[in-house]
Amino acid sequence: MHTLTAPVSYVSTRGDSPSVTFQEALLTGLAPDGGLYLPDQLPALPSTIWTTPASFPQLAQSVFATWIPDAVAPATLAPLTADAFSFPVPVVPLTGAWTGVLVLELFHGPTLSFKDFGARMMARWMNAFLTTTDERLTILVATSGDTGSAVADGFAGQDRVEVVLLYPDGQVSAVQERQLIVERPGVRSFAVQGTFDDCQRMVKAAFAHPRLADHPLSSANSINIGRLLPQSLYYLWAYHQVDAPAFSVVVPSGNLGNVTGGVLAARAGLPIHRFVAAHNANDFFPQVLEGHDVAFTPSVRTLSNAMDVGAPSNFERLRTLFSPEALRQRFWGTSVDDARTEATMREVFEATGYVACPHTAVGLEAARRYRAATTDDAPLVVLATAHPAKFPESVRRATGQEPAAPDRLSALWSQPTRVAPLAPSPDALADVILAAA
Ligand SMILES: *Cc1c(COP(=O)(O)O)cnc(C)c1O
Repeated sequence: MHTLTAPVSYVSTRGDSPSVTFQEALLTGLAPDGGLYLPDQLPALPSTIWTTPASFPQLAQSVFATWIPDAVAPATLAPLTADAFSFPVPVVPLTGAWTGVLVLELFHGPTLSFKDFGARMMARWMNAFLTTTDERLTILVATSGDTGSAVADGFAGQDRVEVVLLYPDGQVSAVQERQLIVERPGVRSFAVQGTFDDCQRMVKAAFAHPRLADHPLSSANSINIGRLLPQSLYYLWAYHQVDAPAFSVVVPSGNLGNVTGGVLAARAGLPIHRFVAAHNANDFFPQVLEGHDVAFTPSVRTLSNAMDVGAPSNFERLRTLFSPEALRQRFWGTSVDDARTEATMREVFEATGYVACPHTAVGLEAARRYRAATTDDAPLVVLATAHPAKFPESVRRATGQEPAAPDRLSALWSQPTRVAPLAPSPDALADVILAAA
C-alpha cells in the first residue's frame, strides 16, 4: 500500500533555475542554468518494496507510483513498465575464490547493455507526455558505445520523437558500431571526427545554439533524470536476491549515471552500505575519492570503451548530494588498466567459468581490491553492464573462447545501415538538426 504524496519537484544542481515537474525535467534534459535536475527530496520507498516483488515491471510500478505520483496514472503506467522491462534481470552468484560476489546481469535487454533500462523507460514516458500535449521533439544523444544503440532502439517506433545520434568515429567496437548504424525509423546516426567528449560538448552546445532556439530539443544522455530513475530499480531488485540486511555494490563507471541511480535508491531508504566506483584508466573519480584536487581531463581510450569518460557529467549531481567527507565515506574507488582487466577476465573464467565483458571485468577487479582493502563483509553485488558477446575480440584474447552471441546480435549483420560523417563542431550539428525540420 502506498500513500499518495505531493508531487516531487525537480531542482537544478546549480540552484539558479525554477523548480519543475518530472515531465518538464524529462523533456528538457538540462536545466536552463546549465545544471542537472535532481528531485528536491525523494519520498521514502513504499513499504511494499520490502516484500519480494512478483516481477521487475511490478517493482517499477510501485517505485514510480511513489516517486512520481503525478506523472502517469497507474493504469497507463502498468503497460509502459511491462513493455520497457520485458527481459530477465538474473543474479549469478560466483563460486570458489569469488564466493560472496554476486553478478547482477543488466545486459539482457534488446541492445545488450544496462542502458536499455533507462532508455526504454524514458522513451515510453516521453512519448506518453508528448502524445498528451500533441507535441514532437528531437532527442540528441552522444554515445561512447552503448547509450546510442539503447536510445535508438528504445525510441524506435515512438512516433513523437526523432533521434539524432553522435558517436566518436573509430572509437567503438565493430559490434557496437553496427548496433548504432542499423537503420531504424526516426533515427539518424553520425560518426563524429573527434572524441566522445567532443560529442558530449556538441550536444551541450546545441541547447544554447541561437539557430536552434525555436527547435524543441532534449537529451537522452545520462544527464537526463528520466534515465536515472529507472536505473535505481535494479539496485532494489538486487536487494531481494542477496538475503542480507545490507549489501555493497560495485558499479563499472564512466559518466557516473549508473551509480547515481543507486544513490537515489539509497537516499530513499535502500540499505546499500558502500558504492564501489570501478573505473578504467579514466580515473577522475577515484582520484577525487583519494582526496586529490583533480580537474577534468580528455578521455583516454581503453578496452572498456563505454567508460572512456574524462569529464563525468554526473559528478555534478554527486557533489550536490554529498559533502566531500560524506562522498569519501559512502564511496570507494579504484582504477583498473587494460592489462589487469584482461587478466581478471581470464582469472574469473578459469576459476568459475564466468565470462565477463571488459566493463564488468573492471568491476570484478574492483570487487577483489575492495575486499582486500576493507573489512566490509556484506554481500558484494557487481553490476554486469554489457553482454560479453559485444566484445568478442577481448573475450577471445582473455579466455581463448568466442562468447556465444544471442540471436539479436547475429541478426544485425544482415540488416541495412544508415550513417554519415560529421565535423566535431556545434554548427555542424545545428545544420544537421535543422536539415530535417
Ligand atoms: C555506459 C556504460 C558504463 C558506464 O556507465 P555510466 O553511467 O556512464 O557510469 C559501463 N559499462 C557499460 C557497458 C556501459 O555501456
